[in-house]
Amino acid sequence: MFSWHETALLELAKQRARIAHALLVHGREGAGQIEFALALSRQLLCESPTEQGLACSRCAACNWFALGNHPDFRLIQPESLEPDAENEAQSARKEKKSTQIRIEQVRALQDFLAVGTHRAGYRVIVLHPAEAMNAPTQNALLKSLEEPPPATVFLLATSRPHRLLATVRSRCQRIAVPFPDRSQALRWLEGQGVPEADALLALSGGAPLVAARLAEADPLRRRLIAQLRDPRFDVVAATEHCLRVEPAEAVAWLQRWVYDLLSSRLCGKIRYHLEDSATIPRLAAALEPAAVAGVLRALAGARALSQHPLNARLFFEDLLFKYRALWGSP
Ligand SMILES: [Zn+2]
Repeated sequence: MFSWHETALLELAKQRARIAHALLVHGREGAGQIEFALALSRQLLCESPTEQGLACSRCAACNWFALGNHPDFRLIQPESLEPDAENEAQSARKEKKSTQIRIEQVRALQDFLAVGTHRAGYRVIVLHPAEAMNAPTQNALLKSLEEPPPATVFLLATSRPHRLLATVRSRCQRIAVPFPDRSQALRWLEGQGVPEADALLALSGGAPLVAARLAEADPLRRRLIAQLRDPRFDVVAATEHCLRVEPAEAVAWLQRWVYDLLSSRLCGKIRYHLEDSATIPRLAAALEPAAVAGVLRALAGARALSQHPLNARLFFEDLLFKYRALWGSP
């Protein structure tokens, strides 16, 4: 359980006996919606909860939940998020896996809902991320939300509740997942053994889970930024770096770097790259703000390329040439 979830989970524990049958568990990206939904599932399923209503971690239900095989629990998520045993060589195949929750997955719930619960308590279904359901899939779910079987709780976890149908949203009680403050986030990151937690947290807009994810790809990001610090860098080599991660991730790295250059040039402020607070003003001094803003705009227009590797290569090369040209390098 994340420390910043604690108060909200305790509050829900008080409502254990009269919990709504559908909850929209929403919050800012990186607040940990799925972790919150799972912690709530666990405390609802626990068969000997603490006085406060939290999961005991010792009963049969808690053990099954920890092992991922509680008979009254289902986690519905896209195939691409399912853990699997495939090795590195096969992981290229991953791109082919669906990033959507398929309608069949929701229809298959009918069998699970048709029978009574295995234990005497609740039955819990987590859908994550809920916005990964298209409209027909949401409509298939809607039937169960409208006429829920007894003792059944649906948890729809999402950071984009506006992408859900109004009819689905209106069936759910909204639960806001709290976002950690800076000290909570830092303490958690340090507990995870993330080095330079401070700098990564700034890079992630304060979201510790995003920072932790970033930490894994961080050596790559650092090598790219190291190249960008020298206006005569090798564009082809830098493009190779960009192509080794999801295009959206590389675009985000570049956006934050160029943002800091522009922000430093315009108002002397650096938001993301605190460790470069000496280098950035020096680099930015020679820049024409309008031209930097143009590169930022080009980055923002990058969404369409995400699924096309060839486009991605051309895109990054073109963009890095533009970036280099900011200093007049050919
Ligand atoms: Zn328990």
